[in-house]
Amino acid sequence: MSRVVVVGCGGVAQVAIAKCCQLDDVFTELCIASRTLSKCEAVKEKLQPNTKTKITTYELDANNYDEVVKLFEAYKPEIVLHCGMPYHNLVIMDACIKCKVHYLDTAAYEPEDVDDPEFRKVYDKRVKEKGFKAYFDYDSYQWKYAKKFEEAGIIGLLGCGFDPGVTQAYVAYAFKHEFDTVDTIDILDCNGGDHGYAFATNFNPEINLREVSSPAAYYEDGKWHTLPAMSVKREYDFDGVGKKDMYLLHHEEIESITKNYPGIKRIRFYMTFGQSYLDHMRCLEDVGMLSTTPIDYNGVKITPIQFLKALLPDPASLGERTKGKTNIGCIFTGKKDGKDKKYYIYNVCDHQESYLEVGSQAISYTTGVPAMCGALMILKGLWNKVGIHNVEEFNPDPFIEALDKYGLPKSETYNPKLVD
Ligand code: NDP
Repeated sequence: MSRVVVVGCGGVAQVAIAKCCQLDDVFTELCIASRTLSKCEAVKEKLQPNTKTKITTYELDANNYDEVVKLFEAYKPEIVLHCGMPYHNLVIMDACIKCKVHYLDTAAYEPEDVDDPEFRKVYDKRVKEKGFKAYFDYDSYQWKYAKKFEEAGIIGLLGCGFDPGVTQAYVAYAFKHEFDTVDTIDILDCNGGDHGYAFATNFNPEINLREVSSPAAYYEDGKWHTLPAMSVKREYDFDGVGKKDMYLLHHEEIESITKNYPGIKRIRFYMTFGQSYLDHMRCLEDVGMLSTTPIDYNGVKITPIQFLKALLPDPASLGERTKGKTNIGCIFTGKKDGKDKKYYIYNVCDHQESYLEVGSQAISYTTGVPAMCGALMILKGLWNKVGIHNVEEFNPDPFIEALDKYGLPKSETYNPKLVD
């Protein structure tokens, strides 16, 4: 018996909710709490006839601490699956401490207004000290909640989607079962799906476009190295997808893996992009449409990237049109029993199969399923270390077993082509 609140009702949340409802003996009661109540009601209407999970809905402004506390005090959930915007992570974490509710999210905190002077001070200090320039980092904000979460006796599980999330479970799994020491990790995120639009993002456009337009970074020999966005391109032949161009990006799991597994010589993250996506992104950036700074237009304050989001297709609506597969995983090099070893662990997920099962494309599916599986680990007491933790800090075995069972099975190879 467990009561769960899911914050958000977009692409990722809809998959997490659908998967929780498949396990109705564990997730017995679920409240969908999001900004637009009609979306929550529509999801409830679709799922309730086929599940014993008792679904309720709630109109919530996740940016309003008092509102979140009011919901938690009334509903008394054991865990909140925050599948909304990363802007609200800290507000929801504060409410979790007050109401003693376990917390799980799928993306590291970053503020909505990146020009806020308080944020800027923290950001500039971090850029100077560490070098990477993305707006998110764990160290400045969410990791600082560790003591408060310990004192409240609750678990904060950060970044429990696919990447971040499953990729870190793969790291823990490789250390546990495959290697004595790891020298390098390359995380490869390939979306071979085609939705037929000239330009659309597969998850929240604001977060997606911020992520891919910020300078690339990787970690090598104890320090961060920063490069211009999209300046490092490689081609890779992905199982289930074929050859794709991929580009070096900064990603939040690099920060947590370097902290939790010190001694790895190099960690990089690559993501595939098609030429049409890159051409559109460059053009939008050049004309200022990716800006997060509000402008005054005929007396109305408009934030260009939010206006762009309103024009682009809703990621939750791409499911029916998206064909092809994703392939996300990690390539390791290192040593076992004194010998050099290579290992590649990954998942291939089919957009249309995801759509047929839960009505969503594979990017939402590969994020929502791990969010459900992470909650399952906490609710079953299999992951029970209180405080703030990233996925690689827990035993990967039951989590990877759950992923195998609930839709994201792993594949492995011991002779992968390495990325140069
Ligand atoms: P969507 O834009 O589809 O969904 C966001 C949801 O949050 C919407 O339902 C939106 O409401 C809701 N929301 C926005 N503001 C508020 C608010 N103030 N109060 C309450 N609800 C609010 O995004 P996605 O589902 O694509 O992505 C969700 C998260 O998952 C993002 O943080 C993204 O970065 C992360 N992600 C993580 C991945 C991983 O592998 N770890 C991969 C992909 C995504 P409304 O319906 O009104 O717009």
